[in-house]
Amino acid sequence: MATFKLLLFPGDGIGPEVMAEVEKVVGFFSRSGLAQFEVEKGLVGGSAYDAHGEAISDADVERAHAADAVLLAAVGGPKWDGVPYEVRPEAGLLRLRKDLQLFANLRPAICYPALADASSLKRELVEGLDIMIVRELTGGVYFGEPKEIIDLGNGQKRGVDTQVYDTYEIERIARVAFDLARKRRNKVTSSEKRNVMKSGVLWNEVVTALHKREYPDVMLEHQLADALGMQLVRKPKQFDVIVTDNLFGDMPSDVAAMLTGSLGMLPSASLGEINPKTGKRKALYEPVHGSAPDIAGKGLANPIAMIGSFGMALRYSFGLNEAADRLDAAISAVLGVGLRTADIQAPGNAVVSTAQMGDAVVAELGKN
Ligand code: NAD
Repeated sequence: MATFKLLLFPGDGIGPEVMAEVEKVVGFFSRSGLAQFEVEKGLVGGSAYDAHGEAISDADVERAHAADAVLLAAVGGPKWDGVPYEVRPEAGLLRLRKDLQLFANLRPAICYPALADASSLKRELVEGLDIMIVRELTGGVYFGEPKEIIDLGNGQKRGVDTQVYDTYEIERIARVAFDLARKRRNKVTSSEKRNVMKSGVLWNEVVTALHKREYPDVMLEHQLADALGMQLVRKPKQFDVIVTDNLFGDMPSDVAAMLTGSLGMLPSASLGEINPKTGKRKALYEPVHGSAPDIAGKGLANPIAMIGSFGMALRYSFGLNEAADRLDAAISAVLGVGLRTADIQAPGNAVVSTAQMGDAVVAELGKN
Protein backbone atom coordinates (compact mmCIF):
# COMPACT_ATOMS: atom_id res chain seq x y z
CA MET A 1 0.00 0.00 0.00
CA ALA A 2 1.31 3.45 -0.91
CA THR A 3 2.30 5.78 1.93
CA PHE A 4 1.93 9.53 1.53
CA LYS A 5 3.42 12.23 3.76
CA LEU A 6 0.86 14.86 4.57
CA LEU A 7 1.79 18.07 6.39
CA LEU A 8 -1.15 19.95 7.93
CA PHE A 9 -1.07 23.64 8.84
CA PRO A 10 -4.32 24.36 10.72
CA GLY A 11 -3.33 28.04 11.14
CA ASP A 12 -5.64 30.57 12.80
CA GLY A 13 -9.30 31.39 13.41
CA ILE A 14 -11.58 28.69 11.99
CA GLY A 15 -8.49 26.94 10.56
CA PRO A 16 -8.10 24.35 13.34
CA GLU A 17 -11.87 23.66 13.30
CA VAL A 18 -12.05 22.88 9.58
CA MET A 19 -8.73 21.01 9.62
CA ALA A 20 -10.08 18.71 12.35
CA GLU A 21 -12.75 17.59 9.87
CA VAL A 22 -10.13 16.83 7.23
CA GLU A 23 -8.33 14.66 9.75
CA LYS A 24 -11.51 12.59 10.08
CA VAL A 25 -11.61 12.13 6.29
CA VAL A 26 -7.90 11.23 6.18
CA GLY A 27 -8.56 8.72 8.97
CA PHE A 28 -11.37 7.18 6.95
CA PHE A 29 -9.21 6.66 3.86
CA SER A 30 -6.36 5.24 5.96
CA ARG A 31 -8.71 2.77 7.67
CA SER A 32 -10.26 1.79 4.35
CA GLY A 33 -6.87 0.44 3.26
CA LEU A 34 -6.69 2.66 0.20
CA ALA A 35 -3.44 4.30 1.21
CA GLN A 36 -1.47 5.08 4.30
CA PHE A 37 -1.11 8.73 5.29
CA GLU A 38 1.69 9.84 7.57
CA VAL A 39 0.25 13.00 9.08
CA GLU A 40 2.38 15.73 10.65
CA LYS A 41 1.34 19.17 11.81
CA GLY A 42 3.07 22.54 11.58
CA LEU A 43 2.48 26.10 12.67
CA VAL A 44 1.84 28.99 10.31
CA GLY A 45 0.50 32.53 10.63
CA GLY A 46 -0.55 33.97 13.97
CA SER A 47 -0.22 30.64 15.74
CA ALA A 48 3.42 30.39 14.59
CA TYR A 49 4.04 33.99 15.67
CA ASP A 50 2.65 33.27 19.14
CA ALA A 51 4.84 30.16 19.42
CA HIS A 52 8.15 31.49 18.13
CA GLY A 53 7.84 35.08 16.92
CA GLU A 54 7.80 34.37 13.17
CA ALA A 55 5.09 33.57 10.64
CA ILE A 56 6.61 30.17 9.85
CA SER A 57 9.77 28.51 11.09
CA ASP A 58 12.59 27.29 8.82
CA ALA A 59 12.00 23.81 10.23
CA ASP A 60 8.37 23.83 9.09
CA VAL A 61 9.35 25.10 5.63
CA GLU A 62 11.80 22.17 5.43
CA ARG A 63 9.04 19.77 6.42
CA ALA A 64 6.85 21.27 3.69
CA HIS A 65 9.61 20.52 1.15
CA ALA A 66 9.75 16.93 2.35
CA ALA A 67 5.97 16.36 2.32
CA ASP A 68 4.06 14.79 -0.57
CA ALA A 69 1.36 17.40 -0.04
CA VAL A 70 0.80 20.34 2.28
CA LEU A 71 -2.68 21.27 3.50
CA LEU A 72 -3.18 24.75 4.93
CA ALA A 73 -6.42 26.03 6.43
CA ALA A 74 -6.18 29.80 6.93
CA VAL A 75 -4.05 32.46 8.57
CA GLY A 76 -4.64 35.85 10.14
CA GLY A 77 -6.99 37.72 12.40
CA PRO A 78 -7.31 40.94 14.40
CA LYS A 79 -5.15 39.56 17.21
CA TRP A 80 -2.07 39.97 14.97
CA ASP A 81 -2.97 43.28 13.32
CA GLY A 82 -0.16 45.11 15.12
CA VAL A 83 2.71 42.64 14.59
CA PRO A 84 5.72 43.76 12.48
CA TYR A 85 5.10 43.54 8.72
CA GLU A 86 7.75 40.85 8.05
CA VAL A 87 6.18 38.47 10.55
CA ARG A 88 2.50 39.19 9.84
CA PRO A 89 0.46 35.98 9.43
CA GLU A 90 0.25 36.21 5.61
CA ALA A 91 4.06 36.23 5.43
CA GLY A 92 4.04 32.55 6.41
CA LEU A 93 1.71 31.62 3.59
CA LEU A 94 3.60 33.75 1.06
CA ARG A 95 6.90 32.19 2.09
CA LEU A 96 5.50 28.69 1.61
CA ARG A 97 4.19 29.57 -1.86
CA LYS A 98 7.50 31.18 -2.81
CA ASP A 99 9.86 28.58 -1.35
CA LEU A 100 7.93 25.69 -2.87
CA GLN A 101 7.79 27.63 -6.19
CA LEU A 102 4.10 27.06 -6.63
CA PHE A 103 3.48 28.67 -10.01
CA ALA A 104 0.11 27.12 -10.86
CA ASN A 105 -2.99 27.99 -8.91
CA LEU A 106 -5.98 25.74 -9.60
CA ARG A 107 -9.38 26.89 -8.52
CA PRO A 108 -12.32 24.69 -9.39
CA ALA A 109 -15.73 26.33 -9.35
CA ILE A 110 -18.31 23.59 -8.93
CA CYS A 111 -21.95 24.30 -8.31
CA TYR A 112 -23.61 21.38 -6.59
CA PRO A 113 -27.22 21.11 -7.76
CA ALA A 114 -28.39 21.29 -4.14
CA LEU A 115 -26.76 24.71 -3.79
CA ALA A 116 -27.73 26.30 -7.09
CA ASP A 117 -30.14 28.65 -5.37
CA ALA A 118 -27.34 30.04 -3.18
CA SER A 119 -25.64 31.53 -6.25
CA SER A 120 -26.21 35.14 -7.23
CA LEU A 121 -26.96 33.92 -10.78
CA LYS A 122 -30.09 32.09 -11.93
CA ARG A 123 -30.26 28.36 -11.19
CA GLU A 124 -30.24 27.34 -14.86
CA LEU A 125 -27.00 29.26 -15.48
CA VAL A 126 -25.04 27.62 -12.67
CA GLU A 127 -26.62 24.25 -11.84
CA GLY A 128 -24.05 21.55 -12.56
CA LEU A 129 -21.32 24.12 -13.28
CA ASP A 130 -17.82 22.60 -13.23
CA ILE A 131 -15.00 24.86 -14.38
CA MET A 132 -11.34 25.03 -13.50
CA ILE A 133 -9.45 28.30 -13.40
CA VAL A 134 -5.69 27.92 -13.79
CA ARG A 135 -3.90 31.10 -12.76
CA GLU A 136 -0.18 31.79 -13.08
CA LEU A 137 0.95 32.61 -9.55
CA THR A 138 4.61 33.54 -9.39
CA GLY A 139 5.13 35.98 -12.26
CA GLY A 140 3.53 38.92 -14.00
CA VAL A 141 2.73 42.35 -12.70
CA TYR A 142 2.63 41.40 -9.01
CA PHE A 143 6.33 40.58 -9.08
CA GLY A 144 7.80 42.38 -12.13
CA GLU A 145 10.52 45.02 -11.62
CA PRO A 146 10.65 48.00 -11.52
CA LYS A 147 7.92 48.21 -8.94
CA GLU A 148 8.00 51.55 -7.21
CA ILE A 149 6.48 54.90 -6.41
CA ILE A 150 8.71 57.67 -7.75
CA ASP A 151 8.58 61.23 -6.43
CA LEU A 152 8.62 63.43 -9.53
CA GLY A 153 9.59 66.47 -7.48
CA ASN A 154 6.79 68.68 -8.76
CA GLY A 155 4.18 67.64 -6.23
CA GLN A 156 3.41 64.59 -8.34
CA LYS A 157 4.27 60.95 -7.76
CA ARG A 158 4.33 58.06 -10.23
CA GLY A 159 3.32 54.50 -9.37
CA VAL A 160 5.02 51.86 -11.50
CA ASP A 161 4.34 48.13 -11.82
CA THR A 162 5.84 45.96 -14.53
CA GLN A 163 3.98 43.22 -16.34
CA VAL A 164 6.59 40.74 -17.53
CA TYR A 165 6.42 37.13 -18.74
CA ASP A 166 9.05 34.87 -20.30
CA THR A 167 8.25 32.05 -22.73
CA TYR A 168 9.00 29.28 -20.20
CA GLU A 169 6.59 30.76 -17.65
CA ILE A 170 3.75 30.84 -20.16
CA GLU A 171 4.54 27.37 -21.49
CA ARG A 172 4.60 25.67 -18.09
CA ILE A 173 1.27 27.14 -16.95
CA ALA A 174 -0.36 26.40 -20.32
CA ARG A 175 0.88 22.83 -20.06
CA VAL A 176 -0.87 22.45 -16.68
CA ALA A 177 -4.09 23.70 -18.30
CA PHE A 178 -3.86 21.42 -21.35
CA ASP A 179 -3.05 18.37 -19.20
CA LEU A 180 -6.03 19.10 -16.95
CA ALA A 181 -8.34 19.60 -19.92
CA ARG A 182 -7.41 16.19 -21.29
CA LYS A 183 -8.76 14.64 -18.09
CA ARG A 184 -11.90 16.78 -18.17
CA ARG A 185 -13.93 18.02 -21.15
CA ASN A 186 -10.90 18.71 -23.33
CA LYS A 187 -11.28 22.45 -23.77
CA VAL A 188 -8.95 25.32 -22.79
CA THR A 189 -9.82 29.01 -22.88
CA SER A 190 -6.70 31.17 -22.74
CA SER A 191 -7.16 34.76 -21.69
CA GLU A 192 -5.00 37.90 -21.98
CA LYS A 193 -5.14 41.44 -23.35
CA ARG A 194 -3.17 41.06 -26.59
CA ASN A 195 -5.03 44.03 -28.07
CA VAL A 196 -3.25 46.45 -25.72
CA MET A 197 -0.36 44.59 -24.03
CA LYS A 198 2.86 43.12 -25.44
CA SER A 199 2.88 40.49 -22.72
CA GLY A 200 -0.58 39.51 -23.98
CA VAL A 201 0.71 39.16 -27.55
CA LEU A 202 3.49 36.86 -26.34
CA TRP A 203 1.10 34.90 -24.09
CA ASN A 204 -1.20 34.29 -27.05
CA GLU A 205 1.67 33.26 -29.35
CA VAL A 206 3.25 30.87 -26.86
CA VAL A 207 -0.04 29.16 -25.92
CA THR A 208 -0.98 28.80 -29.59
CA ALA A 209 2.42 27.35 -30.52
CA LEU A 210 2.43 24.89 -27.61
CA HIS A 211 -1.08 23.78 -28.53
CA LYS A 212 -0.07 23.13 -32.12
CA ARG A 213 3.10 21.31 -31.11
CA GLU A 214 1.93 19.14 -28.21
CA TYR A 215 -1.82 19.36 -27.63
CA PRO A 216 -3.63 19.47 -31.01
CA ASP A 217 -6.28 17.09 -29.63
CA VAL A 218 -7.41 19.68 -27.05
CA MET A 219 -9.86 22.39 -28.11
CA LEU A 220 -8.25 25.83 -27.63
CA GLU A 221 -9.95 29.21 -27.74
CA HIS A 222 -8.70 32.68 -26.84
CA GLN A 223 -10.77 35.32 -25.07
CA LEU A 224 -9.68 38.82 -24.15
CA ALA A 225 -9.67 39.17 -20.36
CA ASP A 226 -12.49 41.73 -20.29
CA ALA A 227 -14.68 39.56 -22.52
CA LEU A 228 -13.91 36.58 -20.32
CA GLY A 229 -15.22 38.47 -17.29
CA MET A 230 -18.44 39.17 -19.13
CA GLN A 231 -18.85 35.61 -20.42
CA LEU A 232 -18.25 34.16 -16.95
CA VAL A 233 -21.42 35.74 -15.64
CA ARG A 234 -23.35 35.51 -18.94
CA LYS A 235 -22.89 31.82 -19.69
CA PRO A 236 -20.42 30.20 -17.27
CA LYS A 237 -21.08 26.63 -18.38
CA GLN A 238 -19.39 27.30 -21.77
CA PHE A 239 -16.00 26.94 -20.01
CA ASP A 240 -13.99 23.90 -19.03
CA VAL A 241 -10.42 25.01 -18.18
CA ILE A 242 -9.51 28.71 -18.20
CA VAL A 243 -5.82 29.68 -18.17
CA THR A 244 -4.68 33.21 -17.40
CA ASP A 245 -1.78 35.18 -16.02
CA ASN A 246 -1.45 36.30 -12.41
CA LEU A 247 -3.33 39.60 -12.75
CA PHE A 248 -6.09 38.53 -15.10
CA GLY A 249 -6.62 35.33 -13.14
CA ASP A 250 -7.12 37.14 -9.86
CA MET A 251 -10.50 38.66 -10.74
CA PRO A 252 -12.27 35.82 -12.57
CA SER A 253 -11.33 33.34 -9.85
CA ASP A 254 -13.18 35.50 -7.30
CA VAL A 255 -16.10 35.98 -9.69
CA ALA A 256 -16.29 32.22 -10.18
CA ALA A 257 -16.33 31.88 -6.39
CA MET A 258 -19.62 33.73 -6.22
CA LEU A 259 -21.12 31.53 -8.92
CA THR A 260 -20.95 28.60 -6.54
CA GLY A 261 -22.68 30.17 -3.56
CA SER A 262 -20.33 30.42 -0.59
CA LEU A 263 -16.70 30.96 0.25
CA GLY A 264 -17.02 27.96 2.54
CA MET A 265 -17.38 25.69 -0.49
CA LEU A 266 -14.24 26.57 -2.46
CA PRO A 267 -11.04 24.52 -2.44
CA SER A 268 -7.81 25.36 -4.26
CA ALA A 269 -4.48 23.83 -5.17
CA SER A 270 -1.14 25.46 -5.90
CA LEU A 271 1.33 23.29 -7.79
CA GLY A 272 5.04 23.50 -8.53
CA GLU A 273 7.18 21.95 -11.28
CA ILE A 274 7.28 18.18 -11.70
CA ASN A 275 10.59 16.82 -10.44
CA PRO A 276 11.89 14.80 -13.42
CA LYS A 277 13.69 12.35 -11.09
CA THR A 278 10.74 11.47 -8.84
CA GLY A 279 7.79 12.43 -11.07
CA LYS A 280 6.36 14.26 -8.04
CA ARG A 281 5.57 17.94 -7.68
CA LYS A 282 5.39 20.24 -4.67
CA ALA A 283 1.83 21.14 -3.82
CA LEU A 284 -0.12 23.21 -1.35
CA TYR A 285 -3.86 22.74 -0.91
CA GLU A 286 -5.99 25.33 0.83
CA PRO A 287 -9.53 26.63 0.94
CA VAL A 288 -10.08 29.98 -0.75
CA HIS A 289 -11.58 31.50 2.41
CA GLY A 290 -9.68 33.17 5.22
CA SER A 291 -9.66 32.59 8.97
CA ALA A 292 -13.18 34.04 9.46
CA PRO A 293 -12.52 35.50 12.92
CA ASP A 294 -16.19 36.54 13.16
CA ILE A 295 -17.28 32.91 13.51
CA ALA A 296 -14.13 31.28 14.93
CA GLY A 297 -14.61 28.92 17.86
CA LYS A 298 -18.37 28.74 17.42
CA GLY A 299 -18.69 25.54 15.39
CA LEU A 300 -20.27 27.52 12.55
CA ALA A 301 -17.58 27.16 9.88
CA ASN A 302 -18.29 25.17 6.77
CA PRO A 303 -15.55 22.51 6.45
CA ILE A 304 -16.36 21.57 2.83
CA ALA A 305 -13.80 23.91 1.20
CA MET A 306 -11.09 22.39 3.42
CA ILE A 307 -12.28 18.82 2.84
CA GLY A 308 -12.50 19.56 -0.90
CA SER A 309 -8.90 20.78 -0.77
CA PHE A 310 -7.87 17.37 0.55
CA GLY A 311 -9.91 15.89 -2.32
CA MET A 312 -7.72 17.87 -4.72
CA ALA A 313 -4.62 16.45 -3.00
CA LEU A 314 -5.98 12.94 -3.52
CA ARG A 315 -6.34 13.72 -7.22
CA TYR A 316 -3.33 15.89 -8.06
CA SER A 317 -0.65 14.74 -5.59
CA PHE A 318 -1.52 11.11 -4.90
CA GLY A 319 -3.20 10.08 -8.15
CA LEU A 320 -6.09 8.58 -6.15
CA ASN A 321 -8.79 9.70 -8.57
CA GLU A 322 -11.39 7.16 -7.49
CA ALA A 323 -11.05 8.23 -3.87
CA ALA A 324 -11.35 11.88 -4.95
CA ASP A 325 -14.50 11.08 -6.95
CA ARG A 326 -15.90 9.23 -3.96
CA LEU A 327 -15.24 12.19 -1.69
CA ASP A 328 -16.89 14.60 -4.16
CA ALA A 329 -19.90 12.28 -4.34
CA ALA A 330 -20.11 12.12 -0.54
CA ILE A 331 -20.11 15.93 -0.29
CA SER A 332 -22.77 16.15 -2.97
CA ALA A 333 -24.91 13.50 -1.24
CA VAL A 334 -24.70 15.20 2.16
CA LEU A 335 -25.81 18.49 0.59
CA GLY A 336 -28.45 16.62 -1.39
CA VAL A 337 -30.17 15.37 1.77
CA GLY A 338 -30.36 18.95 3.00
CA LEU A 339 -27.52 19.21 5.54
CA ARG A 340 -26.25 22.78 5.68
CA THR A 341 -23.80 24.78 7.73
CA ALA A 342 -25.06 28.29 8.51
CA ASP A 343 -23.33 29.98 5.52
CA ILE A 344 -25.30 27.85 3.00
CA GLN A 345 -28.49 27.68 5.00
CA ALA A 346 -31.73 27.64 3.03
CA PRO A 347 -35.31 27.59 4.26
CA GLY A 348 -36.39 24.12 5.38
CA ASN A 349 -32.84 22.75 5.69
CA ALA A 350 -31.23 21.40 8.85
CA VAL A 351 -28.36 23.61 10.05
CA VAL A 352 -25.47 21.55 11.34
CA SER A 353 -22.18 22.40 13.05
CA THR A 354 -18.71 22.13 11.54
CA ALA A 355 -18.15 18.77 13.25
CA GLN A 356 -21.56 17.42 12.29
CA MET A 357 -20.90 18.27 8.64
CA GLY A 358 -17.52 16.49 8.78
CA ASP A 359 -19.10 13.46 10.49
CA ALA A 360 -21.85 13.35 7.86
CA VAL A 361 -19.30 13.33 5.01
CA VAL A 362 -17.36 10.49 6.68
CA ALA A 363 -20.57 8.54 7.33
CA GLU A 364 -21.54 8.98 3.67
CA LEU A 365 -18.09 7.77 2.57
CA GLY A 366 -18.62 4.67 4.69
CA LYS A 367 -21.83 3.79 2.86
CA ASN A 368 -20.25 2.71 -0.41
P1 NAD B 1 -12.75 35.43 5.32
O1 NAD B 1 -12.73 34.54 4.14
O2 NAD B 1 -12.05 34.95 6.53
O3 NAD B 1 -14.28 35.72 5.72
C1 NAD B 1 -15.20 36.40 4.86
C2 NAD B 1 -16.64 36.05 5.29
O4 NAD B 1 -16.92 34.70 4.91
C3 NAD B 1 -16.85 36.11 6.80
O5 NAD B 1 -18.14 36.57 7.07
C4 NAD B 1 -16.71 34.67 7.25
O6 NAD B 1 -17.44 34.35 8.40
C5 NAD B 1 -17.24 33.91 6.02
N1 NAD B 1 -16.56 32.62 5.88
C6 NAD B 1 -15.29 32.40 5.47
N2 NAD B 1 -15.01 31.10 5.48
C7 NAD B 1 -16.12 30.47 5.91
C8 NAD B 1 -16.44 29.10 6.15
N3 NAD B 1 -15.56 28.11 5.93
N4 NAD B 1 -17.67 28.82 6.61
C9 NAD B 1 -18.57 29.78 6.83
N5 NAD B 1 -18.35 31.09 6.62
C10 NAD B 1 -17.12 31.42 6.17
O7 NAD B 1 -12.17 36.84 4.85
P2 NAD B 1 -11.92 38.16 5.71
O8 NAD B 1 -12.98 38.32 6.76
O9 NAD B 1 -11.68 39.22 4.73
O10 NAD B 1 -10.53 37.92 6.44
C11 NAD B 1 -10.41 37.40 7.78
C12 NAD B 1 -8.94 37.11 8.06
O11 NAD B 1 -8.51 36.06 7.19
C13 NAD B 1 -8.01 38.29 7.78
O12 NAD B 1 -7.02 38.30 8.78
C14 NAD B 1 -7.43 37.99 6.43
O13 NAD B 1 -6.16 38.57 6.26
C15 NAD B 1 -7.34 36.49 6.49
N6 NAD B 1 -7.35 35.82 5.17
C16 NAD B 1 -6.55 34.74 5.05
C17 NAD B 1 -6.56 34.01 3.88
C18 NAD B 1 -5.71 32.77 3.81
O14 NAD B 1 -5.28 32.27 4.82
N7 NAD B 1 -5.49 32.23 2.62
C19 NAD B 1 -7.40 34.38 2.81
C20 NAD B 1 -8.23 35.49 2.99
C21 NAD B 1 -8.21 36.21 4.18
